[in-house]
Amino acid sequence: MTNKELTKLVTRLEAGEPLAAEFYARTGTARILGITGPPGVGKSSLIDRLIGEFRRQGRTVSVIAIDPTSPISGGALLGDRLRMQRHSEDDGVFIRSLATRHHQGGLTDATPQIIHALDAAGFNIVIVETVGTGQDEVEVAEVADTVAVILMPELGDEIQRAKSGLMEIADILVINKVDLMNAGTTGRDTIPSAEGKQWERPTIHASAKTGDGLASFCGAIEAHHGYLVRSGELARRRERAARAEVIRLLQSRMTASILRVLEIPRAQNILTDVAQRKLDPYDAVEQLSREIFGSQNRSS
Ligand code: GDP
Repeated sequence: MTNKELTKLVTRLEAGEPLAAEFYARTGTARILGITGPPGVGKSSLIDRLIGEFRRQGRTVSVIAIDPTSPISGGALLGDRLRMQRHSEDDGVFIRSLATRHHQGGLTDATPQIIHALDAAGFNIVIVETVGTGQDEVEVAEVADTVAVILMPELGDEIQRAKSGLMEIADILVINKVDLMNAGTTGRDTIPSAEGKQWERPTIHASAKTGDGLASFCGAIEAHHGYLVRSGELARRRERAARAEVIRLLQSRMTASILRVLEIPRAQNILTDVAQRKLDPYDAVEQLSREIFGSQNRSS
C-alpha cells in the first residue's frame, strides 16, 4: 500500500469506518511505542530524531500525533512543522495527526483501528504521541507496548503534580533538553541489562537539539522490547489492549443505542416523569433498559 493510499484509508477510519477484517489478520508485528509528556518538553523534536535513528537501522516508522499542541498536529510554529517535512519524501515514514476528542488530548475511538492499519501496512514501528494529561495517560498505556514519558528540567509546579500519573505508565523516562542544564548530566544513564527478567525503568538524559542521549534512548527501547518478549509481558499487554479496544467499541455501540431509544416518545415521557418526580431514576432505567435491550436484558 502506498502512503497516499494509506492516507485515504486513515481518513476513512477516522470518520468511523471499521478496518476490513482481512487487514486485522495481518497485524501484530509492528512495535507500538507511546511517546507522552507535557506540551513543550520536546516530544516532536525527539520523535523527529528517533525517526532518523530507526531509518538508519533500516526500519520503517509511522507516527500518529494525538497531542493537540504538537507541531505535527499543527499546534505550533511553522518552523517546527517544516522540521518534520524532511521525512515527507521518504516512503518508509508516514506521519499523521488526529483530531482529539477534547483539548486535553485523549485517544480518539479510531486510534486503535489506525494503529492496526499502519501495522498491517507493514510499518516496523508505530509511534503514538500524546500529551499525557488525564485520561490519555491510561489510554496510551492501553495501546502501546512501550511507553516513553518525556520531561524536561525545571518544569513548573503544575506539571510536577501531573508527573505522578505519568510515572505510573512510564517504561522509559527521558529528561530532554539537557543542553540547557549544567554540564555533566549526560552520560550517566543506566540501561537495564538485556537478560534481566525484571524491568528497571531507565532514566535517559537527552537533547533533541544536540542528539545527546539518542543512542541511549534507542537502546532502552530495544532493551524494553527484549524484556517484554522474555517475560511474557508483551502477550499480556496485547491482551489488555484487545480487551480495552473491544470494551471501547461496545461502549460506543451501547451509547448510540441508548441515545437512539431516548429519542422515541415513550422514552421522552419517562424522562418527563422523572423530572416531575412521578418516577424515580432507577425505575426509569428499568423501563428504558427494556426498550434498549428488549428481551435480551436478563439483568433485571
Ligand atoms: P512538544 O510539544 O513536546 O512536542 O515539544 P517540541 O518538540 O515542539 O519542542 C518545543 C520547543 O522546545 C521547540 O521550540 C523545540 O525546538 C525546543 N526543543 C526541543 N528539544 C530541545 C532540546 O533538547 N534542547 C533545546 N534547547 N530545545 C529543545
